[in-house]
Amino acid sequence: DSVFAAIAQAPEDPILGVTVAYNKDPSPIKLNLGVGAYRTEEGKPLVLNVVRKAEQFLVNDHAAIEENRVATAQCLSGTGSLRVGAEFLAKHYHQHTIYIPLPSWGNHLKVFTMAGLSVKTYRYYDPTTRGLNFQGLLEDLGAAPAGAMVLLHACAHNPTGVDPTLEQWEQIRQLIRSKGLLPFFDSAYQGFASGSLDADAQPVRMFVADGGECLVAQSYAKNMGLYGERVGALSIVCKAADVASRVESQLKLVIRPMYSNPPIHGASIAATILKNSDMYDEWKIELKAMADRIISMRKQLFDALSARGTPGDWSHIIKQIGMFTFTGLNSDQVAFMTKEYHIYMTSDGRISMAGLSSKTVPHLADAIHAAVT
Ligand code: PMP
Repeated sequence: DSVFAAIAQAPEDPILGVTVAYNKDPSPIKLNLGVGAYRTEEGKPLVLNVVRKAEQFLVNDHAAIEENRVATAQCLSGTGSLRVGAEFLAKHYHQHTIYIPLPSWGNHLKVFTMAGLSVKTYRYYDPTTRGLNFQGLLEDLGAAPAGAMVLLHACAHNPTGVDPTLEQWEQIRQLIRSKGLLPFFDSAYQGFASGSLDADAQPVRMFVADGGECLVAQSYAKNMGLYGERVGALSIVCKAADVASRVESQLKLVIRPMYSNPPIHGASIAATILKNSDMYDEWKIELKAMADRIISMRKQLFDALSARGTPGDWSHIIKQIGMFTFTGLNSDQVAFMTKEYHIYMTSDGRISMAGLSSKTVPHLADAIHAAVT
């Protein structure tokens, strides 16, 4: 016998029971005076205007979200968001080729290959100008097969620090849409490029605004300094709500056998900041301070090299954007700087401007100067 077998049926709550009885009554003249909740002249619940305003202020949702066209899953920071997106695409998308910029963050190739996609590259960086190879980019994406996926760094391209201008983004958008390519944004540095969350979100918003599909992998590791918490999200923007709801159900199936559920602590911190207008404002200020310090490091390093008369054009140090400078130093020069100056960086000559300070700029400038002379 059940240990609960002797438990008796509880009576209906005296107040809630009134509504139960009311709901059951088919009469057209029925009137519920049981529950103490405010109703309008039309008998409808009232959402106060001020509440609506506050909600708008806090959430400020994009139309695509209001229209329930975005399927979002909390994922394990940027990497996990990319991987879940890639697994989803490998399973449910008709095309299996994804184009990534050349060069790109080293993990992109591995994440997409492991998920079963085939990775190709599109021209991106031009070593001679240390800027964007825009013509090459347009040619390569223009030659991609219809439906192919395109990985785009939303801002602060890693490792080059080279981003398209908004005019160039618009051309990229038109090309991608006209060819029916599927854009997949990697947004790992929102706010870090310009210091403004909105400005850095512009490219993604341009694509969402045209009503077409896109994927967005977001990391909060850098912009909230929550590196170890692994806070991120994958959003799949769809054209209709019913599609988004089916996409979301499939995302759950992708995630379930990988790690079942994401951890809650860091995500609760991020959600609290995003939902509370005071904290949100405070975050924007602190984020801008981080971005501004990096920008000032660019200026200081550039000035220090100019002061030393270091041969070559170093203007790319101030032109490039975000956390990294792609110095143009070759692997021998990098090895020299490590051996003689104890300065460590990746062998492709990428330096993290975030690791630099006013105190250490002169040492780095001395090392670069010695490496190139
Ligand atoms: N994308 C890019 C371009 C990155 O540089 C990084 C971090 N180095 C990531 C994604 C993922 O970062 P995380 O998983 O730590 O959020």
